[in-house]
Amino acid sequence: AATLFVVATPIGNLADLSARALETLRTVDAICAEDTRRTGQLLSHFGIATPLVALHEHNEDAMAERIVARLQSGQSLALVSDAGTPLVSDPGYRLVKAARAAGVAVSPVPGACAAIAALSVAGLPSDRFAFEGFLPAKSAARRERLSALAGESRTLVFYESSHRIAESLADLVRALGPERPATIARELTKLFETVLAGKLAELLAKVQADDNQRKGEFVVMVQGAGEDAGAQIAEGRRVYALLNAHLP
Ligand code: SAM
Repeated sequence: AATLFVVATPIGNLADLSARALETLRTVDAICAEDTRRTGQLLSHFGIATPLVALHEHNEDAMAERIVARLQSGQSLALVSDAGTPLVSDPGYRLVKAARAAGVAVSPVPGACAAIAALSVAGLPSDRFAFEGFLPAKSAARRERLSALAGESRTLVFYESSHRIAESLADLVRALGPERPATIARELTKLFETVLAGKLAELLAKVQADDNQRKGEFVVMVQGAGEDAGAQIAEGRRVYALLNAHLP
């Protein structure tokens, strides 16, 4: 029967594309891709000639209907994003929802996901965690989100880009306190893979001191609040006020 395969692609190292992902991408009628040029490069690396359809944030609603119609006509399709697992801070939710509502089979071809890869090496409690995706870009909204998370007892997992890593770490110190154990996973599976672990304030200092530690893609993980969260948050505000004088 026609199926929408949700296929994870590598987050860096191309050898992480699974054998089943390769087979699926080779055999479906078309691949819905966030960026057809990027996925085109991946496909040509593996010698795959399956046609591509653009499905991104800006056309997902309109395209979902047309893609569901193709599935209903008996075609099997794959959904991929630029890197990692679709729908995880990536497009696809509206398509998957529409396909399910239309009674079409939706099946995962699992593989790389930056959040899970990062957690697996962080050395932080991972039996319970809260995936927060990207923090808001605007500083006021970011701080508001972080204060709402200050009492969360699960390990917090954030995605971050090179533009904002230092600012976000400074806001984390301010909202959660300088002492919280945290881990920053940078450029996983790539040439400059780096995993830094320490207290939040130490990590901020390292990232501020070294330009290279601000380059690339990041997963930031912070241990959840303990019993003494209130005192730590007060300390965070104090340390932040001291640091703030030196921030750009
Ligand atoms: N769907 C993807 C997944 O499954 O991880 C995430 C897509 S999201 C648009 C991109 C973000 O994921 C980056 O800004 C970064 O936070 C994280 N990321 C992606 N690749 C990474 C890598 N190789 N190392 C560290 N973080 C990565």
